[in-house]
Amino acid sequence: MITDDFITYFGKVKQIGDGRFTALCPAHDDKNPSLAITEVDDRILVKCWSGCTAHEIVESVGLKIGDLFLQPLNDDLKQAYRTQYSENQKTKDKTYLALCNGARKHGEKLTSKELEKERECYLRVNQ
Ligand SMILES: [Zn+2]
Repeated sequence: MITDDFITYFGKVKQIGDGRFTALCPAHDDKNPSLAITEVDDRILVKCWSGCTAHEIVESVGLKIGDLFLQPLNDDLKQAYRTQYSENQKTKDKTYLALCNGARKHGEKLTSKELEKERECYLRVNQ
């Protein structure tokens, strides 16, 4: 996304320099623009002086962190994100598999929904 498009998602946008803007922060009840939007190299930086995170800010206007990049993510970055995601997901999946195994050991019958989820977890963990 280019900065010109990006800033249209925010209120009271004011340009304060080359590729630099202030706007109302959408992630908290902002009366005086406390959001700084700065275009740097290949991405857009957002900074709220009240401490809202970049995630909170972009999600508040229905965007994703990926939209902060002026160019589509290159493959290296995509890979890095994927690795990070799958590590988190893997831990969750393993926990779920352990829960299912535990339930079985105790003679509990899993519902078809649970079995389906277990299968998905199993496939992800062992991919
Ligand atoms: Zn904020």
